[in-house]
Amino acid sequence: MARIVMKFGGTSVADIERIRNVARHVKRETDAGHEVAVVVSAMAGKTSELVDWTRQASVIHDAREYDAVVASGEQVTSGLLSIVLQSMGVNARAWQGWQIPIRTDNAHGAARILDIDGSELVRRFGEGQVAVVAGFQGLGPDNRIATLGRGGSDTSAVAMAAALKADRCDIYTDVDGVYTTDPRIEPKARRLKKIAFEEMLEMASLGAKVLQVRSVELAMVHKVRTFVRSSFIEPDAPGMGDFDNPPGTLICDEDEIVEQEVVTGIAYARDEAQISLRRLSDRPGVSAAIFGPLAEARVNVDMIVQNISEDGTKTDMTFTVPSSDMEKSLAVLEKAKEAIGFDVVQSEPGLVKVSVIGIGMRSHAGVAATAFRALAGKGINIKAITTSEIKISILIDSAYAELAVRTLHSVYGLDKT
Ligand code: ASP
Ligand code: MG
Repeated sequence: MARIVMKFGGTSVADIERIRNVARHVKRETDAGHEVAVVVSAMAGKTSELVDWTRQASVIHDAREYDAVVASGEQVTSGLLSIVLQSMGVNARAWQGWQIPIRTDNAHGAARILDIDGSELVRRFGEGQVAVVAGFQGLGPDNRIATLGRGGSDTSAVAMAAALKADRCDIYTDVDGVYTTDPRIEPKARRLKKIAFEEMLEMASLGAKVLQVRSVELAMVHKVRTFVRSSFIEPDAPGMGDFDNPPGTLICDEDEIVEQEVVTGIAYARDEAQISLRRLSDRPGVSAAIFGPLAEARVNVDMIVQNISEDGTKTDMTFTVPSSDMEKSLAVLEKAKEAIGFDVVQSEPGLVKVSVIGIGMRSHAGVAATAFRALAGKGINIKAITTSEIKISILIDSAYAELAVRTLHSVYGLDKT
C-alpha cells in the first residue's frame, strides 16, 4: 500500500464525462489499496473566464477580491469529482484550501505556499476516505483566500505530496509525458522515461509548458517523485495501475537515473529580444548601472554577454529580454544613459533561444562544440551563447528555430529510431 497524490488539469476535468473518467483513474488506485489525495484544476477555460470577469467588473481591482473570484473554479471541480466518486462507491470528500488549511503568504494572485497541515487528511486516510482538494488556492495571513498564480494547481499537488509524505505525485494532463523536444516541431521526439529535477526545471522554464516552474522547484527541494502522465489513456489500459512503472515520465533525483545520457532534451523559447550597448565605458559599476534600473523596472534579463575591451576603456554589452519588454527596456536605458555612459544602443526583437540540456554535460567535454559544428553545417548564424553546468543556450534568428531544434535533436542522438 502506498500514498499517492493525483493531480488532474483543466482539460482532464473539462466536462462531466471527463470528470467521470478521472474518477475511474482514482478508483483504480483506491481499489489497489492506496491512500489517495486528489488535486484538481478548474474546468478548461474557466479560470480565464473568471479572470476576464474581474477585469470587466473593474480594470483596477483589489487582488484579494480577484482571488475570491478566480479560486471558485477549483471549488466547483472538487465538489463535482467528489459527487461522482461517491456515486461510484468511493468515500470521497471535497476540501477547499482554507479548510485544510494550506497556508500561503499574502502575495494575493501569486501567493506562495508556506505550510500545509495534512494531519486531518492523514487521519481520514485511515478511515478509507479520499480527499479531493481544490488546487491553485490557500489561505493568506489575512485569513482570506489566496491563489498561487496561473498554472498553480501543479504546485498545490507537489506541496500536498510533500506535506503528506506521499510516495509519489502523479500529474495527469493531456500529454503522456515529457518529450526530448516539442513533438510538433520534431516528430522524432521521444518520450523520456525519466528526467532529473534540474533538467526538468530547465525544460519547464524554457518553454516546455508541461508544469508550472514553481512546482518543479518545490519537487526538487522536497525530493517529490513526480510522474507526468495522461488522463486520456483508458484508466484500465495495460500498465496504468503499475505502481513502479506506469506509462509517463518520472521527474526524479538524478541518482535514480542509471543510464544518464549526455543530452536529455532540446528546449526553445521564442520572442527574445537582443539589446546591445556599444562603446560602453569599461569601469567598475557599469553593469550595476545597466541592470539595476532594468531590475527595478521588473525586466527579466536573460543572456548577458560582455566583451573584454582592447585598451581598457571601451567595451560592448549584449543581453536579451522578452520581446514584449524591449521597448520598456530601451526607455529605461535611455533614461540612464548619462549614468551608464554608452555611445549607441542597438536592438532586435523576435529572436529565438534554443537550449541543449543534460546533466551528463557536467562530465563530458565537447558538448558545446558539437552544437556549434552542427549549426554551422546548416548555415545557422549564432548571435549569442551562454552556458551553465547542464545547459548550452544559443540565440538565433527565428526563421531558423525549427531547423536548429531538429538539427540539435539529431546530432545528440535523441531521434526516435
Ligand atoms: N485553474 C488555474 C489556471 O488555469 C490553475 C491551474 O489550472 O493550474 O491557471
Ligand atoms: Mg497546467
